[in-house]
Amino acid sequence: MSKNFRKPRVAIHSITGCAGCQLVIYFVRNKLLELLDKIDLVAAPMIKERNDEGPYDVCFVEGLVANQNDLENLKNWREQSKYLIAWGTCATHGNVPGIKNFKDKEVVESAVYKDKSNLVGGSSTLVPSAISEHVKVDFEVSGCPPSEIEFLRLMQHLLMNVEPKIYNEPVCVECTKREIRCLLDDGKECLGPIIRGGCNALCPAVNYGCTGCHGPLKSANFEQMIKLLEECGVSRELINQRLQKYAGSKFEELGVDIR
Ligand code: SF4
Ligand code: SF4
Ligand code: SF4
Repeated sequence: MSKNFRKPRVAIHSITGCAGCQLVIYFVRNKLLELLDKIDLVAAPMIKERNDEGPYDVCFVEGLVANQNDLENLKNWREQSKYLIAWGTCATHGNVPGIKNFKDKEVVESAVYKDKSNLVGGSSTLVPSAISEHVKVDFEVSGCPPSEIEFLRLMQHLLMNVEPKIYNEPVCVECTKREIRCLLDDGKECLGPIIRGGCNALCPAVNYGCTGCHGPLKSANFEQMIKLLEECGVSRELINQRLQKYAGSKFEELGVDIR
């Protein structure tokens, strides 16, 4: 995007999700106001009364596809957007709702809804899925929710007309930079080596193992890393559970052996 060009039209939309990823953007400290000077926030239904249709230069989408309505909205935004950004682990991986993919559908729905006529989305429910399983996505930023710094960095790059580089290092890298003592050395559980960072090692910094909310690290050698984690006393069952929880509908792509 050229500096001399008109302000880019930005949209922040949501499908099935908890709104936590949008809140990160709206609470991005004083920076959002600064940013609003440089962009035209034309659609943000969570905070704006008037919301415009596209075309959008940048469209953030929070949430996963869980019903027909989600799918129609998503396709509509895709058609109208130059850059479509999957914002948060629901959008990038299907996340927690994707757990349904590993269970019997009837059992899950009966556990949640006594009366299935109240089922959200009714008969139009779809297999919970990441948005890239339905439309082309230009950039994916995982995190439940992602960090505000990732939003600012992405917007900064787009405004400077620079190809954004999405951070793709394990949590361990940020842990090491912060000189945090490794929890594995103390016999604690931590999935940091196979999880994408970007959170500044938030959990290990408070002596809590990474459970994987940023989703799996792209191109990690999962089998090798899982063997190493097992050697450190982290059970494969726990690793599988955590990966299924956050990798959701993308879990099978990891090629992890479920024993
Ligand atoms: S990724 Fe997490 S914070 Fe974002 S919408 Fe999904 S559940 Fe909420
Ligand atoms: S505490 Fe976790 S994230 Fe930090 S270095 Fe150890 S394994 Fe990696
Ligand atoms: S340390 Fe792991 S669980 Fe904690 S915020 Fe970072 S990615 Fe999420």
